[in-house]
Amino acid sequence: MIRLSYLKQVFVFAAILVFVTFAYLEIAILGSSEIRVSSYKLALVSLFQFILPFSALLAWLGWNSLTAIVFLGLAVLMSLLATAALDGFPLWVFAFFYVSIFLTILFYESLSRNRLRVYSVDIEKNAEAQNELRLRIEAESRLADAFLKRYTRYYGLREVCERFATTLSLDKLSSMIVETALDFVGRGELCLLYLADPQESKLSLISSKTTRDEEHVKLKEGDVFDRWVLKNGQRLLVQDVDNDFRFDTRMLDKDSPVKSLIIAPLVHEGRVVGTLRINSNEPDRFSTEELRILDLIAGLASSALGNTLLYAKTEELAIRDSLTGLFVQRYFRSRLKEEHRRSLLKQTPLSLLMLDLDFFKAYNDRYGHGAGDIVLFQAAGLMKEIVGELGIVSRYGGEEFAIILPNTDLDSAASVAEAIRRRVKGTSIEIRREPTKITISVGVANFPADTLDCEELIGRADQFLYQAKKAGRDRVCSSAL
Ligand code: GH3
Ligand code: MG
Ligand code: MG
Repeated sequence: MIRLSYLKQVFVFAAILVFVTFAYLEIAILGSSEIRVSSYKLALVSLFQFILPFSALLAWLGWNSLTAIVFLGLAVLMSLLATAALDGFPLWVFAFFYVSIFLTILFYESLSRNRLRVYSVDIEKNAEAQNELRLRIEAESRLADAFLKRYTRYYGLREVCERFATTLSLDKLSSMIVETALDFVGRGELCLLYLADPQESKLSLISSKTTRDEEHVKLKEGDVFDRWVLKNGQRLLVQDVDNDFRFDTRMLDKDSPVKSLIIAPLVHEGRVVGTLRINSNEPDRFSTEELRILDLIAGLASSALGNTLLYAKTEELAIRDSLTGLFVQRYFRSRLKEEHRRSLLKQTPLSLLMLDLDFFKAYNDRYGHGAGDIVLFQAAGLMKEIVGELGIVSRYGGEEFAIILPNTDLDSAASVAEAIRRRVKGTSIEIRREPTKITISVGVANFPADTLDCEELIGRADQFLYQAKKAGRDRVCSSAL
């Protein structure tokens, strides 16, 4: 189906109108003129006047301008012939109209063709520009995406930093660190935090977090990979545990499902103090990007851990006696109050031992103050060893000690006291290659057997100690005996 533009439709309509008008005029002129025209000639003229221009028109409609020109040329020629045949009747005037119409059509055509060419060039250019623009938009949006991702991540890291600073408890901080690392890296199934023992450079697991409930952490002291990081202070990416020839993997647990891992060192004041590690049960699970994030978190974790460890150390220093390593009297008093309150609430017994070395002044005088210090240190060690987790051993002052025994009745407390007394007596302390001996006296008081009051408990224990001294020293005194 031929589709005509609006302008072309007007042209076609005008052309048909002109042909019909001219035909009518022609017949009218011929009919009214003096010229006698044979019917044969009239038929010939009609043919030239109508059929040929119509053929030209149809040819042009079929978009074949050359055929149209040929037909039109013929029409012009015929109109000239007809003019001659009709003895000079000016039929060529019609030819003039045909030509003008056709030239107009040609002009219009060339015009629209030109415009079409311009349009197509424009379309091409536009398509190119559009393409370029699309590529630019894509690149920009990729950049924006990356920026947004980085921004979110850094914003998140700031939050992490703030979160890490909210606690000074090592337990809370370390579980926060493993949770954050697993969350931020977003890959892997198990995160492990190890801290290094500064003397032995041995790692011990402080905290772990897994995405699977049933996972059981076997690596309490780390493995070859953690030790490498600890030694080199560099981060490590292992894409495939079974095929990493940098490491001797023969020592690894054969049943371990770990196939790939990343480890970042925890560096504090220039020293590697531990490792932060994420395991995956699939190979090739991590890239350098994940390692970089883990390293960032390890960096934040290191300073937070440093603060926490420092705090713990300071706190410990404040409550520990520097010579014996036992708790100081202030701490002893606060703990005694605490234990007393607990015993009152829970209706459980609580015992207190007061201990004092016998003739220690004389010992000092004989062997020197330094030797006395050694004795204090050793006696403290013996007490800690015997009491263990059962009680709180403190240096009450000078050569006096106090031991709190929660959940301990009078008899048991007296047994502990007796065990200490015997052990001190039985231990020979070598001073300048000479074995020396010392004895200890102990007073035992019990809640509720001796008193219900906390302060009174100290007083009672002191009284029994005095009693032991008076009775000849090297003995245990209590209300039970
Ligand atoms: P008693 O059997 O009656 O307890 O006799 P004692 O000599 O032990 O009694 P006293 O309380 O008179 O003497 C305590 C001595 O402990 C005095 C002091 O020289 C010594 N002493 C206190 N603190 C220290 C210390 O930190 N180091 C050393 N080497 N000696 C200390
Ligand atoms: Mg003494
Ligand atoms: Mg004393």
